[in-house]
Amino acid sequence: MFLFKSPFVLFVGILLHIVTGLSADKIRCSTAEVFKRNALNHPDAILRKQQLESDIQHWIAQNAAKRENGIQAMITIPVVVHVVYGKDVQNISDAQIQSQIERLNKDFSNSNADKLHSSHPFFTISGNSNIEFCLTRIDPNGNSTNGITRTATTVSEFSDNNDVKFAASGGEDAWDARQYLNIWVCNLGGDLLGYAQFPSDLASAPESDGVVIGYQYFGSSGVVEAPYDLGRTATHEIGHWLNLEHIWGDDDNCSGSDNVSDTPNQETETTGCPSGVRTDNCTGNSPGVMYQNYMDYTDDACMVMFTKGQVDRMNAVFDIARSAIKTSNKCSGTTGVSLLANNKLKIYPNPVQNYLTIEGLPKTRSGNFNIDIFNALGQKVYTTEISSDTMIEMTDLKTGTYVMTIYNDDFTVTQKLTVLK
Ligand SMILES: [Zn+2]
Repeated sequence: MFLFKSPFVLFVGILLHIVTGLSADKIRCSTAEVFKRNALNHPDAILRKQQLESDIQHWIAQNAAKRENGIQAMITIPVVVHVVYGKDVQNISDAQIQSQIERLNKDFSNSNADKLHSSHPFFTISGNSNIEFCLTRIDPNGNSTNGITRTATTVSEFSDNNDVKFAASGGEDAWDARQYLNIWVCNLGGDLLGYAQFPSDLASAPESDGVVIGYQYFGSSGVVEAPYDLGRTATHEIGHWLNLEHIWGDDDNCSGSDNVSDTPNQETETTGCPSGVRTDNCTGNSPGVMYQNYMDYTDDACMVMFTKGQVDRMNAVFDIARSAIKTSNKCSGTTGVSLLANNKLKIYPNPVQNYLTIEGLPKTRSGNFNIDIFNALGQKVYTTEISSDTMIEMTDLKTGTYVMTIYNDDFTVTQKLTVLK
């Protein structure tokens, strides 16, 4: 047994205990605090957030039927992960990053293995957002990439002040936030797990759009640390990135709201890993508060669902503040432009007389390719659909200059073509 020898030592001992106890408690998320701090200097941010909220509620009122009739069309989000590291351990592996993408794809489609049992009262309101994520295959210059940047830094510890988002402050600059979801992974100080920027700030501050996650809380393999070792920090933060609020409405009383109709009113955040029905001052009856929600503060193993109402909000954002990324075409293997430039895709001969060969088309999820040919007046003079490399007959086309487009949902290339008879 350890005995304190003097009141002073006893005092230091107690102090150490308190400090140690505090440092063991992680701060799950500082998104709301970052927003409030930013709004002190930019009061317009509050108005923009209110305007977006109003637009979202309007969208939901108009589009609620879509959800009732089934899920929305699939939206694929190209992701770039910026790994910013001061030590080797922070330079997380490709496999750890991949485990995070897989987690996101399960959680956002309500196909996570740990989803609620069908007998649970919240099961029927669990939502499938039909949003999927890919590590982008095309960088902002049109070159191929694995969707990961790696930057050595002399900054030993980042905070939620956005320094990690700028090369000038020891981080890495964002890629165009209208085309990519930027995720920075770094050593976050202050026991903070992560933070995000709301979509209402995208237009005014695209350079800091995205989410930041501590390297120990990203993905579900490698150097992750329990109980935040299943990749749910990113699920939560991307929820904010799509304008979800904390489920208790960031106000520790029953008047705070997350602006979602199907989440129970909740007094404050839930930590740890509860089980069974948990009630509070705002929701006193079974099935109680929804501590199983990704937008609460429970451990990774204990948050397992978005609601249909939250899914509506996310989908609304893609028709309002984040509409550009919805059509960002950066998840397919490579662009037609770079394929042509690298001579991997060949369209010949050019000039052509009767038969044109198309060789080296990429494999895409969309399968078949459409071919349209336009004359100098912009009139479509030829159209066909092909499934793979082929030779097409040009016998009906007269001498002249044409523009040919080969495309599907994942791929497009445009080529000038001269026909000589
Ligand atoms: Zn949060």
